[in-house]
Amino acid sequence: MISLFENYENLIELTQGSARGDQAIAFCPCHDDSNPSLSISLTDDKILFYCHSGCSQSELMRFCRNNNIQIGGFNAL
Ligand SMILES: [Zn+2]
Repeated sequence: MISLFENYENLIELTQGSARGDQAIAFCPCHDDSNPSLSISLTDDKILFYCHSGCSQSELMRFCRNNNIQIGGFNAL
């Protein structure tokens, strides 16, 4: 099983994000994003994300599932 941090790094790589510690800004994979609008945060037990253009959590979670990214606590929901 890979660590949450490795999942975080994989997600950033997939979304061409740039990370500063446990925060990253990336291209949202759920809409046609020309200006990075996806915020990603790594917490102790989960990866959080927020699209500033309004993509839903369920769309983003589906992207993660389809790409085998485990995002921690959220997956239990
Ligand atoms: Zn989006």
